[in-house]
Amino acid sequence: MLLKKLQALGIAASWDSCGGVKHKSFRKAGIPAGFSYFVHDCSGTSEDCRLMKVLQSNKCVHDCKYCFNSSHGGMKTELSPAELAKSFSSLASKGFVQGLFLSSAVTGNAERSAEQIIESARILREKFCFRGYIHLKVLPETPRWQIFDMARYADRLSLNIEVPSKQHLHELSSTKDYYNDLEKRLLWIDKAKRKGLLRSFTTQLILGASDETDFEVLEKMSWLYENTALHRTYFSAFSPVKNTPLENKTAENAAREHTLYQIDWLLRIYGFQRDEIELALQHNGNFSYAIDPKIAIALNNPNQFPVDVNCASEKELLKVPGIGPRTARKIIEMREKRKFHSIKQLKEAGVITKRAQSFIWLDGSMQRRITEW
Ligand code: SF4
Repeated sequence: MLLKKLQALGIAASWDSCGGVKHKSFRKAGIPAGFSYFVHDCSGTSEDCRLMKVLQSNKCVHDCKYCFNSSHGGMKTELSPAELAKSFSSLASKGFVQGLFLSSAVTGNAERSAEQIIESARILREKFCFRGYIHLKVLPETPRWQIFDMARYADRLSLNIEVPSKQHLHELSSTKDYYNDLEKRLLWIDKAKRKGLLRSFTTQLILGASDETDFEVLEKMSWLYENTALHRTYFSAFSPVKNTPLENKTAENAAREHTLYQIDWLLRIYGFQRDEIELALQHNGNFSYAIDPKIAIALNNPNQFPVDVNCASEKELLKVPGIGPRTARKIIEMREKRKFHSIKQLKEAGVITKRAQSFIWLDGSMQRRITEW
């Protein structure tokens, strides 16, 4: 029975993108096939481990039209904090998992659900002395004192803002209030982070469940990065769930999710400003999903190019398609010893020259014209 509960709550948790790859086979690690519903692989990500990823409960008082937990189908169940902590501890002791991702639907009310999550984490930390990674989900309407309590036990908190504005939330839920239930809570999490009580926090948006544009998503993301210590944004392309009001709606294009992840990188890692990124938006307020957004931005901003690789700053180099943060640093390091004279040298520094050629000035000349794109 416990395995069935874990499987049902693992499937429900897999709709959350903030951690792990869904349903991977772990045969090589000796993990039974039935466990892949709640064991997720996060190697290569900031968690860099296998997570047990489950909901505490999948019975929800809210009515989000896209959500698996608000559907009428499937097994509705919950785990007590003792059951959850014991299950995790047993998986961890066998080496199947090294971290926990714990979320929940809102069962009864937010305070009761948050209490269950906090108690699970407390048992793990205090009774089982677990020192590894714990990611806890802050639910809509969670009281401030409970957010601070969660921060005591978690390495990371997250709260899914879901959509870029209250109008869009209104299309999807009749029970949640955008400012009070979501934004205000996100700002409280930010406060916990700024007080040093928390290592990091993230958020997630669902794409295509409402009719939000990429412009609105970009506006929201950049506001959050400028005004909070948000670590990163996750995206989840809408896919219809049976027995929900949106079961007949078309699934969102996966390329949109990919493009918005690239935009997120440009904002966080490459130092692009929102107004620069906006140059790549089309008339309908969306990006083209057929072209790398960094190339689209460069093509719409020709005055910034060509960039002279032998004297440009790191910031200027990062604007060139085909040059990432590591390569920009490498170029600066290499050119201190010897100036760049050839495409071959740039390739050695890690530049993707096919992309960069139209945007760089090398040894007194341009390698390709921007118009050749
Ligand atoms: S509050 Fe969360 S779990 Fe509940 S219906 Fe909405 S998205 Fe689903």
